[in-house]
Amino acid sequence: MAVNAMEQIMSDLLFEYKQALQMSCTCDECLNDVLALVLNRVQPRYVTDDGKIAYVKAEFIDKQQMTTLIVKLAESAKMVSDMPRCRRFERGE
Ligand SMILES: [Zn+2]
Repeated sequence: MAVNAMEQIMSDLLFEYKQALQMSCTCDECLNDVLALVLNRVQPRYVTDDGKIAYVKAEFIDKQQMTTLIVKLAESAKMVSDMPRCRRFERGE
């Protein structure tokens, strides 16, 4: 079995930066949209089990690489935020 370590890493980053991203809607649906968008834009890093995600994560301690991920996350958040597709937003809540 192979898991994409970036899924966990981007999910953690999204949770960490959720407030700073200042999205127009932060429901689960919108956050999942951001996650899907950003995962399509970063290179997947497959590992054989969840326990190895930490090793991949350690590589991103390098500031430059981490900044690149955060920029991509912010761009994806802006795209979803500018045009939310969730039901909550359609109802105008
Ligand atoms: Zn939403």
